[in-house]
Amino acid sequence: MPTVETTRGPIDVEELGLTLIHEHFRTTDEAARFQFPHLYDERAEWEAALSDANAVKAYGVETLVEPSAMFLTRDAAFSQRVADETNLNVVLATGLYTYDHLPQVLLNRDEDALAAIFVHELEHGIQGTEVKPALIKCAADQPGVTPNVEKVHRAAARASQASGKPIMAHSHPASETGLEQMRILTEEGVDPSMVQVAHTGDTADLDYIEKLLDTGCWIGLDRYGLDIFLPTEKRQATTLALLERGYADRMFLSQDYCSTIDWFPAEVQDYLKANEVPDWSMTFLFEKVIPELKERGMTDDQLDQMMVHNPKRWLGS
Ligand SMILES: [Zn+2]
Repeated sequence: MPTVETTRGPIDVEELGLTLIHEHFRTTDEAARFQFPHLYDERAEWEAALSDANAVKAYGVETLVEPSAMFLTRDAAFSQRVADETNLNVVLATGLYTYDHLPQVLLNRDEDALAAIFVHELEHGIQGTEVKPALIKCAADQPGVTPNVEKVHRAAARASQASGKPIMAHSHPASETGLEQMRILTEEGVDPSMVQVAHTGDTADLDYIEKLLDTGCWIGLDRYGLDIFLPTEKRQATTLALLERGYADRMFLSQDYCSTIDWFPAEVQDYLKANEVPDWSMTFLFEKVIPELKERGMTDDQLDQMMVHNPKRWLGS
């Protein structure tokens, strides 16, 4: 039986249960955090993470994938504490979250050297802990697939080939990066069924989404509540259209929620929360999205497929 690495070690895929495939307990800049710690409130961050973990548990969630990578303050010990305190399975990633920038230490290393770094973590654990990643993260966003981004994708692909672990590729559907990302990963020999193209649900363009699905990848409809990228109504219509076309076995639902995020000063953050993304939370799916999808025709089997069976198949691949 395939197993999946969690903060508490490997578990049988059958134990994953109801799974949120893409959420974050903490998203901050790790350099700013190290240099200017007075900007951060550890206690508040801990309480926010704990509160969200407990809230999703109350909805029956058993597993949460936290695909933070370098540059997002991935912190295995922090995630492990949240998991231990709440009895949630928390699944972590190796890899790099960059839209282009690489520091000298990575700029001056090639694809194979980067892949070796990821493989080291997959084999030995993250940040000196015994917690191993279950997937490899890479990203392309507005700047497109720049040479640095391509290098990270090729490194992720080679680490996946060496370890047999799946890849999550953050994408930017507005510029259709997913297709280029899949081209590079498959050119490296990765089986497309190992790859999840995250944030595909940020577009309502079904032609693009079907082109992407034709490559054989999984797609993340994983930013419910982030109305700044696409409002909920359009996300719902897209999800229902894809279900109707028979893609339930290739889709994931999630929110990409961050219990703490430092991208804006506190007052701007409060404004955005109140005005731009009022629904964004770690429980929005359960409070509104899923009940409404059911009313509009989604079956229980389709929901189970997306939130229980697909996580097993992708993470256990
Ligand atoms: Zn994310």
